[in-house]
Amino acid sequence: GLSHGLRLFASAASPSPLASGVSPPKVKLLIDGQFIDSATENWLDVVNPATQDVLSRLPLATKAEFDSAVSAAAAAFPKWRSTAVPTRVRVMLKYQELIRANMDELARLVTIEQGKTLADARGDVFRGLEVVETACGIAPYLAGELVENVAGGIDCYSIRQPLGVVAGICPFNFPAMVPLWMFPLAVTAGNTFVLKPSERDPGAAVMLADLAQQAGLPKGVLNVVHGSRDVVNWMCDDPTIRALSFVGSDAAGRYIYARGCAAGKRVQANLGAKNHAVVMPDADVDSTVKALAGAAFGAAGQRCMAISAAVFVGGFTPRWSEPLLEAARSLKLNAGWEKDADVGPMISPEAKARAERLIASGAASGARLLLDGRGVVVPGYEAGNFLGPTVLGGVTPDMECYREEIFGPVLSCMDAPSLDDALQIVNGNEHGNGTAIFTRSGAAARRFQSEVDVGMVGINVPIPVPLPFFSFTGWRGSFAGDLHMYGRAGVQFYTQSKTVTAKWPADDVAAISAAAATTG
Ligand code: NAD
Repeated sequence: GLSHGLRLFASAASPSPLASGVSPPKVKLLIDGQFIDSATENWLDVVNPATQDVLSRLPLATKAEFDSAVSAAAAAFPKWRSTAVPTRVRVMLKYQELIRANMDELARLVTIEQGKTLADARGDVFRGLEVVETACGIAPYLAGELVENVAGGIDCYSIRQPLGVVAGICPFNFPAMVPLWMFPLAVTAGNTFVLKPSERDPGAAVMLADLAQQAGLPKGVLNVVHGSRDVVNWMCDDPTIRALSFVGSDAAGRYIYARGCAAGKRVQANLGAKNHAVVMPDADVDSTVKALAGAAFGAAGQRCMAISAAVFVGGFTPRWSEPLLEAARSLKLNAGWEKDADVGPMISPEAKARAERLIASGAASGARLLLDGRGVVVPGYEAGNFLGPTVLGGVTPDMECYREEIFGPVLSCMDAPSLDDALQIVNGNEHGNGTAIFTRSGAAARRFQSEVDVGMVGINVPIPVPLPFFSFTGWRGSFAGDLHMYGRAGVQFYTQSKTVTAKWPADDVAAISAAAATTG
């Protein structure tokens, strides 16, 4: 059975508030193979964003608890790193089976805590599951290289070894996928791990850690510590932790990158985004508009690969605006577990208020507010953090609503006379996470692919998240570090290369034969 204690919420078809007098469960820490209650006096509420019901209480773990998680990981490392690679892989083979078997329950937990629809929540788990599947084939990524006879009788070869204790810090928007971007590859490569889930929606990470234990991960190999800034600072500074993976906002990520690097760690930090679609005049209207609406408003715009700006080459004319507004209006806002929901609530009242302020700022600076999602009320969920799909036209690069990452269901539409002008807009933005071009022209697509200064490119594909045998390659302001997450680069991040130069005395072989001849 599951031992994380959050099953209460995941097993209901739709969550009902706790009966009065019942206190919300405490989210547990996982230290050295045990799910335990924190001894802290500081707790945060985990809140259902569609209802504001308190779902659970999250501990801000104490320094002593953090230290014991790191010690458990350090103690587990020597045995785990010397465990045979196929044995470590077999844990992942079992793990992918358990994630599949618990997919619905994981998705319900994501929906209730994060707000996204059940279909999106399943996608969240599935995208992470694919990384676990890739971890099952890690062996070729661990292979080193050998050059024979670099000098007389001397061979030179490299081997990849795990780093030791590594750690991960996660955002709220993909509470299952992002933890699974990190620890499965790290531990299969032989490291041990300390994970800090988002304090807003820790449930899926805790359940995933529980399943990992059930799959046979030895105690101490994966530890989960909850908290916010303090835990992050301890992770950055702790001399035992050798590498940090971070996914989240620019402000937190740049800070963590600087502090972690200053303490001598490897850091990879996936940061914020402003992803542009470039729509050529020859693009198919129906499929392009459908793709734009899904990529801009789906998951309430809270995807780091959401399309938040659309640049129309030849202008955002009624040919584009009319069907786009119709597609946006047809999306149904509702609590994520309701069957007809297309768009769920935003994560918090503060996130919603910020998005609303940026919409107002866009309108005040001259953008045309073509569809205003502010003030929507979802019957039955009046307290939810809902913001309806919002479309701004005539947006220009100097506007605050364009410069800031809104991270809500807001699409800024822009005009460009030519593909060159569109490229100038996209390449002039500080972020370089993802982008997409919609066109029927191979020449235009090829030019775009070659000249765009962005790390992930879709060609008639709105959200080009690479499958995990590639890597998640955000560029410029969307990434800090060198080696990207998952894929070959992900394994390289969690391993270090050792190079051996070996010479064996040539006369040994003759001596063995001679010895055998005299004794035989
Ligand atoms: P966030 O930066 O607020 O939080 C991420 C993590 O950092 C959390 O675990 C949080 O506890 C910690 N944190 C936050 N502020 C901190 C501080 N001042 N000091 C130390 N730790 C701190 O991000 P979020 O709101 O949870 O997630 C949304 C952001 O993440 C968006 O900007 C989105 O674009 C980005 N994101 C990027 C990717 C990517 O791959 N590039 C993927 C998902 C999300």
